[in-house]
Amino acid sequence: MDNCIFCKIIAGDIPSSKIYEDEDVLAFLDISQATVGHTLLIPKEHVRNALSMDEKSAAKLFARIPKIARALKKATKADGLNIINNNEEAAGQTVFHAHVHLVPRFADSDEFAIHFVEHEPDFPALAQLAEKIHEEIEV
Ligand code: 5GP
Ligand code: ZN
Repeated sequence: MDNCIFCKIIAGDIPSSKIYEDEDVLAFLDISQATVGHTLLIPKEHVRNALSMDEKSAAKLFARIPKIARALKKATKADGLNIINNNEEAAGQTVFHAHVHLVPRFADSDEFAIHFVEHEPDFPALAQLAEKIHEEIEV
């Protein structure tokens, strides 16, 4: 797609540090290197984000994660690894070509943080919410 920075990376019009490529996906180092080895995995087919994927395109993209994550963890000698996918601006998406962040984690020495705030569980409200979401699942 014109004006899409990741489509330009796929086409080779913008250079990138590639770590894996096949007919469906490309993985390359994120320019920001949130931690050493921070990688992006993207589908070759332009799609806005996971919210606009069908099962087939999602399967192609997400199925590649484990082998790339394992290689990344090994090569960087990381202690762990976060897999993150931002969808829409409110969730931190800044590039609107779907991508998965693979972020190696180093127990003693990284500045990366994910902050989950815990709330007291309201079990009836949880049950009601679960039902409401369940009704929205596409069949
Ligand atoms: P988002 O915030 O949309 O989830 O992530 C977009 C990511 O793309 C950011 O982490 C940013 O550093 C990365 N990025 C943006 N432009 C480029 C680029 O030209 N090359 C590479 N390698 N990464 C990029
Ligand atoms: Zn694109």
